[in-house]
Amino acid sequence: MRSISVFGATGSIGQNTLDLIARAPGGYRVVALTGGGNVAQLAEDARRLGAEIAVTAYEDRLEDLRTALAGTGIEAAAGAQALVEAADRPADWIMSAIVGAAGLAPGFRALRHGSTLALANKESLVTAGPLLLAEARRHAATILPVDSEHSAIFQALAGEEIGAVEKIIVTASGGGLRDWPLEALPMATVADAGAHPNWDMGQRITIDSASMFNKAMELIETKEFFGVPSDRIEAVIHPQSIVHALVGFRDGALMAHLGAPDMRHAIGYALHWPERRDLPVARIDLAQIATLEFYAPDPRRYPALGIARAVMETGGRAGCIFNAAKETALDGFLGGRIGFMDMAGVVDRVLDAMSSDFRLSDPPSDLEEVLAVDQMARERAWAAIETRETA
Ligand code: NDP
Repeated sequence: MRSISVFGATGSIGQNTLDLIARAPGGYRVVALTGGGNVAQLAEDARRLGAEIAVTAYEDRLEDLRTALAGTGIEAAAGAQALVEAADRPADWIMSAIVGAAGLAPGFRALRHGSTLALANKESLVTAGPLLLAEARRHAATILPVDSEHSAIFQALAGEEIGAVEKIIVTASGGGLRDWPLEALPMATVADAGAHPNWDMGQRITIDSASMFNKAMELIETKEFFGVPSDRIEAVIHPQSIVHALVGFRDGALMAHLGAPDMRHAIGYALHWPERRDLPVARIDLAQIATLEFYAPDPRRYPALGIARAVMETGGRAGCIFNAAKETALDGFLGGRIGFMDMAGVVDRVLDAMSSDFRLSDPPSDLEEVLAVDQMARERAWAAIETRETA
């Protein structure tokens, strides 16, 4: 029987993954489920799916988890190290859906058993793409993309030569503030930015969609995962979120992947790959949709895209700094310390400041160095936020 672990099981991707797993009762042996603060959900899912171990990221929640699992025989553990140890338990298929840089270390460890890592945690590729891919090669492990755009690209590339790719186009809904007047954007609140027109996702990624920091991450992810030069990768706004990505080939053909905006599509593809199986997702009725629109993003509205392009061209540590700075800038926005449009300025400043500390294009040599650069960038970002507050 296939064994499975889900990291970030209590989140939006994690819950969609468990939904697919639960639809095949007896089909999988669940090894580890992990979560953060939502211990009640974690314990309920661990019981329901008969997991071997449940891990919360927070040590002060261990007693709650133990209590919730009492009498089940399911092991309980807590803390960052426990997450890595859970990733060390062999499983055939592992979902990496912890949000943020916290997902890095468990993802790296999970590759050691040569398993299949379904990668939703985009931070892993953006901050440490070359290291992660090298680790996968070293252990003959497989990484499958779970971001809907990258799953779409992966599917469009099946059986194709990467050298024949002329262009990769990643689509973007434009987020919840897409139709706001430009001059109103600095006043956008967390609630305004946290409403997505098409996708039902976690709060952080929804706000990252409104600022297009999410798309910026995806452009960098595309370069890292598929190894395509940055000048062949672009983003277009597609308000209907039906076409997830397109791949253009040297003969002029453009292969598009269409699907309902439901993450179970990409998760299910990774779960059953290389087969295709039935998935409980809505089917597309083109006649009913009638219109598919595409247009270029306005760089004044989405400055994150310009920063991403510079990051892709620089390579090395730039992705790690970019991710840490944008996560911190988002914390600043969520905490009411900076405005919506200040986030890009913070990220820009951190990249600029750190370019005098070392050559940004020098790649980090190991995961420890990635985490050290990440920490440094976060400190610089908080300093930039404070400067903005006092400006
Ligand atoms: P959520 O915020 O919904 O869930 C995040 C998960 O990570 C939860 O299980 C959460 O636990 C856990 N978590 C939070 N902090 C920590 C920590 N410090 N250590 C360990 N675990 C932690 O996020 P999403 O599911 O939306 O996204 C997960 C990842 O997938 C992200 O990298 C995102 O960019 C990516 N992604 C998401 C998509 C989506 O549609 N949602 C699409 C494509 C990619 P708890 O909730 O219990 O606190």
